[in-house]
Amino acid sequence: PPLYKQRYQFIKDLVWKYKPKKVADLGCADCTLLWMLKFCSCIEVLAGLDISSTPFKEGEHRLSPLPGDYLQPAERSLTVTLHHGSVAHKDPCMLGFDLITCIELIEHLEEPELEKFPEVVFGFMAPAMVVISTPNSEFNPLLPGVTPFRHPDHKFEWNRAEFQSWALNIARSYDYSVEFTGVGPPPTGMEEVGFCTQIGVFIRKYSQTSETARFEKPTKAAYKTVSIICY
Ligand code: SAM
Repeated sequence: PPLYKQRYQFIKDLVWKYKPKKVADLGCADCTLLWMLKFCSCIEVLAGLDISSTPFKEGEHRLSPLPGDYLQPAERSLTVTLHHGSVAHKDPCMLGFDLITCIELIEHLEEPELEKFPEVVFGFMAPAMVVISTPNSEFNPLLPGVTPFRHPDHKFEWNRAEFQSWALNIARSYDYSVEFTGVGPPPTGMEEVGFCTQIGVFIRKYSQTSETARFEKPTKAAYKTVSIICY
């Protein structure tokens, strides 16, 4: 399967394993991952955030309930909320989540946004689990037409040492553990380059309820809520 599907499948597998109830996808673009996750029966709340509002049009269409959703009695309630805003800003709507995913997001952030990202996601949102994926630049020589990055909007692409030292630093600062893996295995004989997409899975080491999170962190809204879909 194509790489993006492998990334989404990786998240789906994690969801089946850990059964989070509230999942947010930062940089959700056209909401493909959210759309896939709506079929995971453990999930009660899905949220998407993107700085660009245009792809939501497609996303909203994709996420709108199907006739079957009305015909079948709901076994659980599911609410999907889409927000327009930046991961460089704190908004209380992102508090109390079990899992927050950032798939191919960080390499699109400008330097000042990337600097704010750890405090917003790990300090403020502080979900039980965070998954971050980003290109592994060591794999690039095996890809055609990488000049110098895989996509013209990428601000950087890190090798494994760069990503891991950034991630370990965050884990230390915000009391998370982190494990590294990836998707898109290298061809036989080229194993030393690692996965095409590198992934960090962070798990919060302290426990925190959504109530205490909200109580300790009152903040004004910074995102614009563009859509609320209830099933
Ligand atoms: N996560 C999706 C996926 O894996 O298919 C989309 C990844 S796309 C390469 C990166 C997305 O991040 C874009 O939709 C872009 O608009 C969004 N983005 C860039 N900077 C952002 C920011 N500061 N806050 C929120 N989203 C941002």
